[in-house]
Amino acid sequence: MVRCDDFYRKWQKAGNFCEKHPKTAERIDIFLNEIIVELETEIAKSEILSGDSRPIGPVLTEGASRPLIFEHDQNVRQKAYKQIVKAVEEKVIDCKRPQVTGREVESIIKEVKEKPSLRSQFNKTNDNIEWAPYSWNPVTGCKNDCPYCYARDIAARFMPSFEPTFHPERLTAPENTPLPVSAKPGANNVFVCSMADLFGDWVPEEWITAVLDQVEKHPEWNFLFLTKNPKRLPNYTWPKNAWIGATVDSQARVKATEEAFGRIDAPVRFVSCEPLLEPVIFDDLSFFDWMIIGGRSRNSRMPEFQPEWEWVESLVDQARKSGLSIYFKPNLTVRPREYPIS
Ligand code: SF4
Repeated sequence: MVRCDDFYRKWQKAGNFCEKHPKTAERIDIFLNEIIVELETEIAKSEILSGDSRPIGPVLTEGASRPLIFEHDQNVRQKAYKQIVKAVEEKVIDCKRPQVTGREVESIIKEVKEKPSLRSQFNKTNDNIEWAPYSWNPVTGCKNDCPYCYARDIAARFMPSFEPTFHPERLTAPENTPLPVSAKPGANNVFVCSMADLFGDWVPEEWITAVLDQVEKHPEWNFLFLTKNPKRLPNYTWPKNAWIGATVDSQARVKATEEAFGRIDAPVRFVSCEPLLEPVIFDDLSFFDWMIIGGRSRNSRMPEFQPEWEWVESLVDQARKSGLSIYFKPNLTVRPREYPIS
């Protein structure tokens, strides 16, 4: 946890305490501590990988496996402290007006907390989730226990547990996040629940409905859902701004995925073959619009793994025959290495 000490010391050093009015310094000291306690509580409630987060390690998508390292806490807290100190300096610390009222400080806290940068927003992803520049985690935690899971590693670092948890305070992220200026395809794509499987059997209906309500209310964003439990997907009416996907990392997942997607009405239906763990043959890809193919990245349990080129080539061939668009993830580095027969 980042302490306020640095800011506080800097503030003291800068001579912001008035020697003529020691009482003022004392009061501000108390008020600042109160602000910090309150702010800590507020920030602890906000999204773990929140607004100003910036990845300093590799970022991967659902189904991939390398851990994410975020500077999130420091950035968000430091920003908040800076704003408070600045506001207190500007509005309260004034030698001509040494009496500081609790109400003034309260109004500063309120003002700072209401600034968009401290409200729950989408997280920015990096190149490893090229197809979605943002992620949104109103639900975190997962019981699928995939050995290559990257989300579990992140949770071990930043979250109290990886138990499925609903974060209702994050539901406002779609309205708090500024829209991108870019008009490139996919610029407003949001990967929903990169830290969970929203359609796991253990997820209560109310959590899913609450998320879908927000999706429907925010047509300015395009929301991408990805699950390993596709059988729940046909139970919902999908908004026009929802792309629905299922992970097919191995042959065993094909049947259930095809069965479910034949009964889904969504603007984009996709299959994510990431990490591709073995050759996969689909019976019927006509229900899909898009195929993502990726390798397996390293995580705390497993090393990196690249599929054979022939497995990838076969998928590309199947996808092309059914008219699907194809997306290679950056963690797919396998390539043909053939020689002519001489
Ligand atoms: S389905 Fe769950 S356990 Fe598997 S990779 Fe995704 S978050 Fe991790």
